Amino acid sequence: MKNCLLLPLFLLSAALACGADKSTGGPRGGRLLESSPLAAEFLVTPERRIEITFLDSQRQPVAPGTRVVAVTAEPKSGRTPLALTRTATGFVSTAALPSPGETYRVVVQIRENAEARPQNFRIDLNLAPCGECKLAEYACTCTH
Ligand SMILES: [Zn+2]
Repeated sequence: MKNCLLLPLFLLSAALACGADKSTGGPRGGRLLESSPLAAEFLVTPERRIEITFLDSQRQPVAPGTRVVAVTAEPKSGRTPLALTRTATGFVSTAALPSPGETYRVVVQIRENAEARPQNFRIDLNLAPCGECKLAEYACTCTH
């Protein structure tokens, strides 16, 4: 009888732990950048544009304020800075990412203002879906 009660409890705690893991990703399924004081979500749209959304402590989108963002794609053909447009809650690239089908590094630099030191984030741009969490690999929240 005791074993029958313990098993559902174990499953429940496993489900809770799994849910906690998921919260480390961005609210829209992108990669969470642990910048401070505001975190930001890095998302690649279906058109291969990059969206950076600043998030408050409740993971709600907020205005970028004085923040400045620079994004550089680093495919084999060479480093390519991406032009960004300011939005109500962050930045979006005006052009699509170069070299479709190639997995390469993207560097995101976030500054609190134009004079501040940059906070750098390096992301391997693998858009293939992860078999476990179903998110794109660049945004995978699995612990492996
Ligand atoms: Zn995953």
